[in-house]
Amino acid sequence: MQEGLLLIISGPSGVGKGTVCRHLMTIKEGLRLSVSTTTRLPRSEEKDGKEYFFTDEDNFKTMIEKGDFLEWALVHDHYYGTSLDVANEAIDRGEILILEIDVQGAAQVRQKEPYSVSIFLAPPSMETLENRIRGRGTESDEKIERRLTTARQEMDSYILYDYLVINDKVEKAAAKIGAIIDAEKCKVSRGAKPPGWGGEDG
Ligand code: 5GP
Repeated sequence: MQEGLLLIISGPSGVGKGTVCRHLMTIKEGLRLSVSTTTRLPRSEEKDGKEYFFTDEDNFKTMIEKGDFLEWALVHDHYYGTSLDVANEAIDRGEILILEIDVQGAAQVRQKEPYSVSIFLAPPSMETLENRIRGRGTESDEKIERRLTTARQEMDSYILYDYLVINDKVEKAAAKIGAIIDAEKCKVSRGAKPPGWGGEDG
């Protein structure tokens, strides 16, 4: 069996990671989206266990102490974390697990996890990113300014990733990520073998 893979899709706040990931799931089979745990409150349309597992800060901190997370980060005053068990199970089963996480979490996974491939999703311009962050219309001016400052800093970390994808059009960005997945599946170093070529698959 081919080895599993943690596919990190990261990038600055407001770049459209969620939208691109959702589109990717519709065009590519066999992917699983990791459901993170967070201390932020659910938005009106969000359901516990679907978009996130929602919890409180005390429980999140207990989970950190127990070593439940592969990575965790404080993002805009709320904690977010990826389950270590879910990631390990995906690798053992040979699955491709998508981690849609911020740049701090991506750095932790890259460092700890050899079965990870990281993609930095970037906006076509800083102006577009600013418009997207302002256009959400769900936050105060002060919060928006903080998101913008963080987003500008986050852009600098693109250099640490395996791949850079520009999110000019959701469909195009998702197709490029699909192509990266195809290429990773063909990697001999990741266990790709010719059909019938020995091993447990042969
Ligand atoms: P939102 O609250 O808008 O859904 O997400 C806010 C930010 O947290 C986004 O940049 C998102 O990628 C990031 N995020 C979501 N889940 C995780 C996670 O498990 N770990 C980390 N490090 N960041 C996450």
